[in-house]
Amino acid sequence: MTKSSNVTTLATFDRVESRVRSYSRSFPKMFDRALGARIYDSEGQSYIDFLAGCSSLNYGHNDPDLKAALIDYVTHDGIAHGLDMFTQAKELFLSSFERLILKPRGLDHRVQFTGPTGANAVEASLKLARKVTGRDNVISFTNGFHGVTLGALAATGNGKHRGGAATPLSGVTRAAFDGYYGPDINTADLLDSQLSDPSSGIDAPAAIIVETVQGEGGLNAASPEWLRQIQDIAHRHGALFIIDDIQAGCGRTGGFFSFDGMGLKPDIVTMAKSLSGMGLPLAVTLIKPQYDVWKPAEHNGTFRGNNHAFITAAAALEKFWADGGFADEVAEKAGYLARRLEAIADEYGLRVKGRGMMLGIETGSGEQASAICRRCFDNGLIIETSGSFDEVVKVLAPLTIAKADLAAGLDIMEAAFGSVLGARRAAAE
Ligand code: PLP
Repeated sequence: MTKSSNVTTLATFDRVESRVRSYSRSFPKMFDRALGARIYDSEGQSYIDFLAGCSSLNYGHNDPDLKAALIDYVTHDGIAHGLDMFTQAKELFLSSFERLILKPRGLDHRVQFTGPTGANAVEASLKLARKVTGRDNVISFTNGFHGVTLGALAATGNGKHRGGAATPLSGVTRAAFDGYYGPDINTADLLDSQLSDPSSGIDAPAAIIVETVQGEGGLNAASPEWLRQIQDIAHRHGALFIIDDIQAGCGRTGGFFSFDGMGLKPDIVTMAKSLSGMGLPLAVTLIKPQYDVWKPAEHNGTFRGNNHAFITAAAALEKFWADGGFADEVAEKAGYLARRLEAIADEYGLRVKGRGMMLGIETGSGEQASAICRRCFDNGLIIETSGSFDEVVKVLAPLTIAKADLAAGLDIMEAAFGSVLGARRAAAE
């Protein structure tokens, strides 16, 4: 950034940018540069980033090794855009992905490069399941979030986003997520009975699509048993089992896939966000070979596969996933994060939700959660809410965050809970 751009004012955004913008309303500063878990505004003020591009920056901002690989590639005039032609960058990514991710897990899924957003990967997965089965209906879950293009939005629960469609959202039946009716009701059993009853009114599904942890829907974490039951139900009823790993994957909940070690083998997996490792747009669907029935160009797009992202994604796989060291580091940080959040939650009689480094505190109301997030921002921490009523304060720190930054961010959070909830408690007494 040049000095002159630093003096540009926020008025330009008000004047020119669409009103649809959202995060900039919570964090109304001009951001300039970022490194690791720190992001700096144009006045040089540093913020700890507990939002991390909504889990697109699991390896932090501008990881030096990923950046070096990209600079080297650009310097040598590597292909920037190649439609879906064979390029060395794409071969590098695919061979690393096969060697480091698929093979060690006994997976032989094909990699489909969709348009570069998560929503496009979801669109592709739903289209493919419908094409494979010849059925239209898709089962998705309460509080699920799968993107805002019309097909993905139909599978999304969030009322605010659905309201933007202005057209009927069809082809999807909602089922209750794990725990939706409390711990004593097994919602997978309910779904199974409905699908087993030809007069339940639910058409035979093409697919069941699920997040293992609902990132936007309030950090509801499904149990491995429930997920295995859902996979089994999908298969018994002739549907494809799709895991949307766009937010929970790439180490966010522990393993590379959020379902690692759960005994699951989804027919389709969607990935985006942190896949490129550096915040560059890259999305894929992973497809069991027998379901890779696409005809050439049936799901097309100009930006399918981003060569710069292939370079950083391959570097991220080599750096973080060549052995189990990074997953161990994430597990250790997740343990520390859980202990700190439990302590805050205990103080105010609240509940910690989520899994791994995808944890948050349910505060009881959207108004309280946003007051806490505002207070955090005033004190140098970027953090957002999640849930039906935006009632969960959600920590999505980069997985690579230094322990000192993680502790400092949690200190800011603890103080914000104290000043918002402590003050209300004192006023009520
Ligand atoms: N699926 C999940 C689970 C997500 O969390 C998101 C985005 O938050 C999407 C799909 C949509 O991804 P994108 O915003 O890149 O379209």
